[in-house]
Parts: sequence; structure tokens; C-alpha cells
Amino acid sequence: MIKRVKIKSSNRDFLKKVETLSGEDITVCDRCGVCTGSCPLTIEMEISPSNIMKMVQLGQEDVMDYNSMWVCSTCNYCTARCPRGLDVSKVAEALRQIKLRQSFDKINIDKIPKEELRELPQIALIGAFRRLTS
Ligand code: SF4
Ligand code: SF4
Repeated sequence: MIKRVKIKSSNRDFLKKVETLSGEDITVCDRCGVCTGSCPLTIEMEISPSNIMKMVQLGQEDVMDYNSMWVCSTCNYCTARCPRGLDVSKVAEALRQIKLRQSFDKINIDKIPKEELRELPQIALIGAFRRLTS
């Protein structure tokens, strides 16, 4: 039987928002750490995938202060192995949406050197701007 974590009422709104946007029932995560062990990018993340889940579960909005949600590449290795069938990449995407809706830009075109803009694949640039700017 799945045991659900009790959440403080003040933090419930943030959890609900992330659950609505991601479509994931985050409270069923038991923080087993399998996602962290499966993720090829954990080394680049300030907090691990299982810690993302834990902080969202507890309604801690400062989860968005860490780089992890931007680093997630949506490779879905974690989802394939999660014993609860959770999709961490959808949670990361929900967090990015919340942050971007606050008019936050993760990348700034003016700060990219012109030579790099000429050399980078245009399709990759468009993809990055759609995903990382508000
Ligand atoms: S593998 Fe699934 S249940 Fe385990 S910590 Fe990650 S998201 Fe939670
Ligand atoms: S989808 Fe994101 S969190 Fe999951 S394994 Fe891939 S990079 Fe890591």
C-alpha cells in the first residue's frame, strides 16, 4: 500500500500547482533515490532528482533556486526505473514553467557572443529560447 506524506497547509498550494502542471502525483514518491542513481546528469545538478521530488513534496518553492530543473534533459532514464512510475522530467518542466511565468529568462540573447550565435545550430537556439525564456 502506498503511504502518502502529510504536507503543511501553507506549502500545499505550491505542491498542487506543480502536480497540476506536471500531471504527476508527487506525494506517492517515497524518496527511494532510484531516479538519482539513474540520472546521467546528477553530477551537474545542485540538488539531485530525488531531492527535487522531496522539496516539491514538502511544498518548498526554493527548489527553483537550484539549477537542477534547467539541467534536466528529459532523457527519462529516471522514469523508466522509478518504482512508483513517476516522471521527474515532467516535474522539472512544471518548475521551469512556473519560473518562466514570473518573467524570468534563464538565458539572455544579448549575452551570447555574436560569433557563437553565427556558429550554433539555429534549430538548437530556437529550442533553447522556447524552453528557457519567458
Ligand atoms: S525513483 Fe521515483 S519514487 Fe524513487 S525518489 Fe525518484 S521519483 Fe521518488
Ligand atoms: S529525465 Fe532529467 S532527472 Fe530524469 S534521468 Fe534524465 S536528466 Fe535526470
